[in-house]
Amino acid sequence: MPETVTTRSEQETVDFARAFAARLHPGSVVLLVGDLGAGKTVFVRGLALGLGLDPDAVSSPTFTLIQEYRGRPSLYHVDLYRLQGADVDDLGLEELVAGDAIVAVEWAEKLRERPAGAIEVRFADRGGDVREITVGGPGARR
Ligand code: ADP
Ligand code: MG
Repeated sequence: MPETVTTRSEQETVDFARAFAARLHPGSVVLLVGDLGAGKTVFVRGLALGLGLDPDAVSSPTFTLIQEYRGRPSLYHVDLYRLQGADVDDLGLEELVAGDAIVAVEWAEKLRERPAGAIEVRFADRGGDVREITVGGPGARR
């Protein structure tokens, strides 16, 4: 069953993601789906906090496709925004996913093959500072 929460500020999304991080294990994959400005990067900042990593390191850099925030476990932050077609498949996501890190992927709808067991988190902008966040996918069971 998908689970939906509504947040009413950036901080509420950070808080939700921070608590959500407790459900993740080494090798967990979180697929983030939603339009520009929907809150995907904000969510990753909350994940970093929840994993004991530096949230200030989390941003949406123009040219970086994959950022690694080192810790136990480390978090790989992947942003597919600027990639198209075959480049998405050539990124080496499989190798990342096979390791002990946690992988969070923005614009995951561009993936042609989704990692097995991934958790999907969908973001919908409901106007103003309201965002509806829905957690689903095969990895979402608690
Ligand atoms: P994305 O990565 O999905 O493109 P960002 O996370 O970079 O989006 O940006 C989300 C923007 O929306 C930020 O400017 C943030 O301050 C704003 N915002 C307003 N309300 C919320 C909310 N409830 N949750 C997350 N972000 C919000
Ligand atoms: Mg982003």
